[in-house]
Amino acid sequence: MNTSVEKLLPDNAYWKYFLKICSIPHPSGHEEKLRDFLIAEAVKHHLAYRVDDAGNLAIERPAAAGWENSAVIILQAHLDMVPQAAEGVEFDFLRDSIVPVVEGDWVTTGGRTTLGADDGMGVALAMELLTDKTLQCGALRGVFTVSEETGLGGAEDIAPDFLQGDILFNLDSDVVFTIGCAGGSRFAGKSKLPDEMPEPDALGVKLKLQGMHGGHSGVDIHLNIGSATVALGGFLRSVENLRLARVNAGTLHNAIAREAEAEAVIPAGDWEKLCTAAADFNCEMQKFTPAPGKEITLSVEKTSALPAKVLTPAAQKILYDLWQKLPHGVLQKNADNSTATSSNLAVVSGAAGNEWSFILLVRSLYDAERKRVTNDALNLMRDNDFAADVDSEYTSWEPQWNSLLLEKACAIYRDITGKDAERFVIHGGLEPGLFCGMNPNLQMLSFAPATQSVHSPQEKLSISDSEKVRKLLRELVTTHDL
Ligand SMILES: [Zn+2]
Repeated sequence: MNTSVEKLLPDNAYWKYFLKICSIPHPSGHEEKLRDFLIAEAVKHHLAYRVDDAGNLAIERPAAAGWENSAVIILQAHLDMVPQAAEGVEFDFLRDSIVPVVEGDWVTTGGRTTLGADDGMGVALAMELLTDKTLQCGALRGVFTVSEETGLGGAEDIAPDFLQGDILFNLDSDVVFTIGCAGGSRFAGKSKLPDEMPEPDALGVKLKLQGMHGGHSGVDIHLNIGSATVALGGFLRSVENLRLARVNAGTLHNAIAREAEAEAVIPAGDWEKLCTAAADFNCEMQKFTPAPGKEITLSVEKTSALPAKVLTPAAQKILYDLWQKLPHGVLQKNADNSTATSSNLAVVSGAAGNEWSFILLVRSLYDAERKRVTNDALNLMRDNDFAADVDSEYTSWEPQWNSLLLEKACAIYRDITGKDAERFVIHGGLEPGLFCGMNPNLQMLSFAPATQSVHSPQEKLSISDSEKVRKLLRELVTTHDL
């Protein structure tokens, strides 16, 4: 049975903040109402605040008497949330309030919409400490960023003085503790390759690869799911006398491709051969885990009309060579078998007569390695007359496995829970990765209460874990010699 949150949750300031945050629309790109609410709270509690050019908010809480020489601690969370409603649910994320319900130990929306515990609970935990008059601790700064969910945009453009301090707690990973994350380079190569008219007696064909699992390149790159972009390239290269007219493989730089298609011409007598090759390819592709409830299939069909242009044989060879040589998959592992460096050959697209392009995202825990892999790929494309450049990049947060801060935090966690904290390093991007590049002296930890199915209408937040993390954070900021 679902129960109203107000009746069940303890009368704590952080839950009140969380419920208020749920009532204020705050999808990515529309954080202003939530920011205004936090500013009003700052004013009410006589705390200084500032909004930077990117729209990020900082709220300053001065040190208590006797705590002036303590570390300056930044409590950081993101203001925005992913707006997702279940099929058939009418919900306007710009106007409607999210209505949380309690189901056992979980706060949910009853499966209707995203809850926004990511990262509303991070904001709530920070606000409780910033506004608690009884708290004796050093200077605290709440830093609330915008547009995290749409590519870390707020963190990327944050005012540098928002990050002046000694310690930063990023309240945005649903584990205790994340201590490092990979950096990333997104880059592309583009070229207009020579083309010509197809032979008039050729046969036009369309190939479509579907049913692959797909995934997030920061989370799933090590899984046995294959990439539709890479797989289609392999198949095309294996077909003799096929001439490409168009390719559309992959969509987003950080998505492992689920689908890929191409249009081409083949000699009219080669149709049976193509069908046999596709059938063999389909057998081979079954080694990969398909999308849930789907089967991986490459379908081939004849088209009614020939394409106007196809690549010349020399141009096609250049395209194929790059498609094969550009890196994809796990390139380097950590001692614990997690991924240290990876590349996602995300997109290959183009049409004869138009531009052809490759889009890649290289991630690494080690900035030098990321730059080396990226530069090798850029040079490979440039050597083949592709205009290739990095679109965006961010630094990694290299883990300090045995820092004093981590040891103290683990000891506090053990006192509260009776359990040892784990230490996670993630291959995806986190805001602390960007902060490292801007203030290398910041000591950072990332942690938050346990959640499930974030970014989906099934999102849920653990009530008991919220209380544990709240205690942990309170202990941390009130530790004299942190
Ligand atoms: Zn988040």
